[in-house]
Amino acid sequence: MQCTCKLRVCFKMRIASVIDISLVDVPKIPVTVLFTAGCNMDCPYCQNAEIIPLDSGSEMSIPHIVERVRGNLSDGYCITGGEPTIHRDLPELVQALREDGAGHINLNTQGSVPDVLRKCLPFLDSVWFDFKTVPSRYAEITRTKSDPWPRVMKSIELLVSSNVSFWPRTTYVGNLMNSEEILQISQELAQMGFRGEYLVQNYKRSSGTRESHVVGFVEPERDEIESLIDKVPSQISLKLEWR
Ligand code: SF4
Repeated sequence: MQCTCKLRVCFKMRIASVIDISLVDVPKIPVTVLFTAGCNMDCPYCQNAEIIPLDSGSEMSIPHIVERVRGNLSDGYCITGGEPTIHRDLPELVQALREDGAGHINLNTQGSVPDVLRKCLPFLDSVWFDFKTVPSRYAEITRTKSDPWPRVMKSIELLVSSNVSFWPRTTYVGNLMNSEEILQISQELAQMGFRGEYLVQNYKRSSGTRESHVVGFVEPERDEIESLIDKVPSQISLKLEWR
């Protein structure tokens, strides 16, 4: 699309797709879902693998993204990916959506770019936070060269001390993780001052999964985790969502 805005600085980011309305991405709020393109992790079980490459999707200016989603019959936005925070202009997008009259604005992130997350916080209502694994396995599970855990930890600290609703969750992959790790994550969250619900969802194969990357993984049974409900720290409520 030809840019016609008169801004001297062009804020832009890569967008993979838009779902005009979704009833499942933010609890009780119909939202428009924006999929940003590109990710700085490479989780083997990724369900959106085709948008991991940094050159996937199409570059759009922030005014054009706002124009594209304006007028949808939703009550807000869910910005997901890919990893939205790898886009340095993400704060400009959430600010522009807010100034355009957005209701709820939710961000999905794995927290590896705390500086961008910090700039977004004033314009966000809630964050789904993908707590991938225990700290000692972060680089292994996300297949990254440098360990992302210190940056992920910084993001969690930012969220815990913010006014934004912080919704941590883990996708539990059978044969890749074990239930004790879920307990350890809940303890990490408690140590970092989080109080509230921690969601664990089951891994499921989907059309977006790379078959050759998930050999040996299994869709886990709910009762692998159920016994942990009474063991997590008292300030954490473990919620299981088996799909
Ligand atoms: S962080 Fe999310 S988008 Fe990125 S590779 Fe992992 S599952 Fe896929």
